[in-house]
Amino acid sequence: MPQNADERRSFLHVRALMATTGEGLVAIGPDGDIRVFNETAEEMLGKNRGEVVGKLYTVLEQPKIEAVIEHLLRPRAHKEPRIVRVMVDERVLSATVAPYDCSGSRAAVVTIRDDSALESYRRRAEAILASTGDGLIVFDPEDIVTYMNPAAITLAGLNPKQFLGKRSHLWQMLSMTPEDSFDPPVDGSQVREVRLEDPEHRILDVRTDPVLDESGGYLGFVATLHDVTAERDVGQMKNEFVSTVSHELRTPLTSIKGYIDLILDGEAGEINEIQREFLSIVKQNSDRLVELINDMLDISRIESGRIHLKIQPLEMADLIAGAVDTFQAVADQSGHKIIAKAPMDLPKAAGDRDRVGQVLMNFMSNAIKYSPEGGSVTVAAKADGDMVTVSISDQGIGIAKDDQAKLFTKFYRVDSSLTREIGGTGLGLSICKSIIDLLGGKVGVKSSAGKGSTFWFSLPMASQNLVRTPGLEGSGVAGGTVLVVDRDPEIANLVETYLVKQGYDVVKAHTADEAMQKAIEAHPRVITLDVMLNDGDGFDLLQRLKDQPETAEIPVLVLSIVCDEGRSCRLGASEYLEKPINKDRLTQIVDNLVGSVSSPVVLVVDDDRNIVDLLCRNLKAKGFSVLAAYDGAEAMAALRKQHPDLILLDLQMPVMDGYQVIERVKTDPTTKDIPIVVMTAHQIDRSRIDILGLANQRVDKPFSAEDLARKVEALLQNMEAPE
Ligand code: ADP
Repeated sequence: MPQNADERRSFLHVRALMATTGEGLVAIGPDGDIRVFNETAEEMLGKNRGEVVGKLYTVLEQPKIEAVIEHLLRPRAHKEPRIVRVMVDERVLSATVAPYDCSGSRAAVVTIRDDSALESYRRRAEAILASTGDGLIVFDPEDIVTYMNPAAITLAGLNPKQFLGKRSHLWQMLSMTPEDSFDPPVDGSQVREVRLEDPEHRILDVRTDPVLDESGGYLGFVATLHDVTAERDVGQMKNEFVSTVSHELRTPLTSIKGYIDLILDGEAGEINEIQREFLSIVKQNSDRLVELINDMLDISRIESGRIHLKIQPLEMADLIAGAVDTFQAVADQSGHKIIAKAPMDLPKAAGDRDRVGQVLMNFMSNAIKYSPEGGSVTVAAKADGDMVTVSISDQGIGIAKDDQAKLFTKFYRVDSSLTREIGGTGLGLSICKSIIDLLGGKVGVKSSAGKGSTFWFSLPMASQNLVRTPGLEGSGVAGGTVLVVDRDPEIANLVETYLVKQGYDVVKAHTADEAMQKAIEAHPRVITLDVMLNDGDGFDLLQRLKDQPETAEIPVLVLSIVCDEGRSCRLGASEYLEKPINKDRLTQIVDNLVGSVSSPVVLVVDDDRNIVDLLCRNLKAKGFSVLAAYDGAEAMAALRKQHPDLILLDLQMPVMDGYQVIERVKTDPTTKDIPIVVMTAHQIDRSRIDILGLANQRVDKPFSAEDLARKVEALLQNMEAPE
């Protein structure tokens, strides 16, 4: 005890402090002797000060704490404090053992805190987390897994020993590929669907959220695993059911619709007015049924992710003009005026031509349908930031605010006597929204009851790199033999009728073997094939046809009620058409296919659509097949797919000009022999005259398309004639 009065006072002061603090304090000298042991330490460790002060620290009888002290007292031991947890009399104590310097030697001080309350709180929290049905995995900022609840362990089939306390990646734990993985969620949540097959089939919605402290500091992240297997499987079953039922309905409908059309076309002899009227009603209703089935199939396809989207740059003005044409007759009849507005310099949008056309037509058809008083329907397109927006406005019955929010959901129809009278399924808008969502755009409506509506959709602008792949159009020369393969004789007869009318000879087959035999015997110019056959899979037949040298070159058009475009094309089908058969599409495709085999192919490249159209028409009339490209990039895309016999090329074009095309074609060994005829307008680029020299011929604009077609003919004949 200090002798000096001041020192004594301060010593007593410290003692009083130590006695009242809520933490236990034990100081150990360099030799391991206990020098300080306060009242709280007495109470916590159950020892008397008198028993321990001056003795070696082992009298504490706390092996875990003693081990750390022993380590700390070594001269070269680490200097960081260590925390150990010990249980004494049902209490959880947390002891911090820290080194301190005692006249140049290493000594230790132990502070002991009672963590019982905290510990029971922690246990309770852990019990709550353990009893939730969702899996939880907690990561610290260094990606070390600090906690996983039992649900996470069972749902994802994880072995805690393998991951707990170790640096791990969530994607590894969930057997995902790194590409499908999550970014560390520093500033936002992410949700992914993860499919696991091991230890059993499971679909999990996995959500990651950052864990932040009060001041926004990043403490790591937590992953929540929610089991959605049952929901998804039921959803899938429902989709499969809808899809199967719809397909089953389609087969008989194909016959009904087709034969009614034939009777109405007079193919079964004269019919009287009453018969015509009744049949027209049957036709209208079968059309409605087809529409409804198509809508349901569309929905099940979209929901199960089986929709094929071909994204390409879209000239919205063209699409609108096409839709206006389609509706003109209907509008004239119902007293509507259709107004189209699109600026000349509207950038191209990125989308699937058929699907965007479907959305546009759906909105236009609604605008006419829900404006019983007539009035104008305005279709306008404009650029809007990096999107292209199309709006369809009408002056019809309008929609109340409350209904607007629900319009885009399945089967929703405004409930009013007016809409009931007009009739519909309530599926159209929901399909439109799903399609536009898939294409990365948005849909919306602005309306007030009684004052008309404006529906709109937007699509992202097409980037420079997006290139349209031109399709091959056959020559105008039709005729020859077509082999029609369908297990259903009625449908085969129907297709036969359509084709015979177009000037073809038809051979029919109902089984795969018969089809194979007739394909070899008759050597048809085109085969139409339904992939559902009685004696085997039509895809196998397709494969056999493509493997056999005698039949490999015959173009096959797959006609199917199953949505299998991807598989058909992979196996070598040239075209794909869905049932019920659209007569005009069928004959058009067959004409194209027949034309494309028998005639030389010319690739026409010009950014002036009128010139391209004119040339195509003249070339087709002369028996050529054509590929139409509107810039150099499209021409190169066409060349990757087809080997044309000749290229007609404009020089000044956007994206990639004619000089670049010549250079690429003539330096590539696979294309360098394709003759190029350059169509020049005015001045040529002197600095690139060398490149121009690689082209085979030049014609100056303006030219007569007919003359040019004749020139092409002569040029190709010369090439065929031996030198
Ligand atoms: P359907 O027209 O077959 O009922 P849609 O999904 O196309 O199905 O439309 C859903 C509902 O939205 C319609 O029933 C109608 O109540 C409302 N609606 C759609 N377009 C318009 C419009 N242009 N004007 C007024 N109401 C509309």
